[in-house]
Amino acid sequence: MQEFQGKLKLEAKGQLYDILLAIGQQTLDYYNPCDWRNEKCRRMRSSRNDEGCCEVCEHLGPNGCTVQSLGCKLWLCENQENIFRECEVELKVLRQVADYCGIPYKIRRSKEESFTLQFPPVP
Ligand code: SF4
Ligand code: SF4
Repeated sequence: MQEFQGKLKLEAKGQLYDILLAIGQQTLDYYNPCDWRNEKCRRMRSSRNDEGCCEVCEHLGPNGCTVQSLGCKLWLCENQENIFRECEVELKVLRQVADYCGIPYKIRRSKEESFTLQFPPVP
């Protein structure tokens, strides 16, 4: 697996990141686990503390997320993970593809941040 990851060029990993992000979005669009309504997701509407998973994230802007985070795109909170099992399985497959190809994806990290963390610039 490491040999395969080594053969994949950084540019290809960047392109794969975008493809997985798009497929992850399609999966979320299809199952709609978060079901946003009036600026509240399903968990926010059903819990007392009113907190969603983006709470206090530095990338949260007035109109939602401001970055392309594959880590967040392929992740569901425990509540939805248990209810939307098929969605979670499909997201898990995408995470496995990312792992296999050595694509960096960190929750609460943009694409640039994830890649910089995994492949620090040569001094
Ligand atoms: S994953 Fe859970 S907490 Fe995050 S937006 Fe969806 S329903 Fe809300
Ligand atoms: S990076 Fe993740 S946690 Fe932060 S605002 Fe975007 S989706 Fe939410």
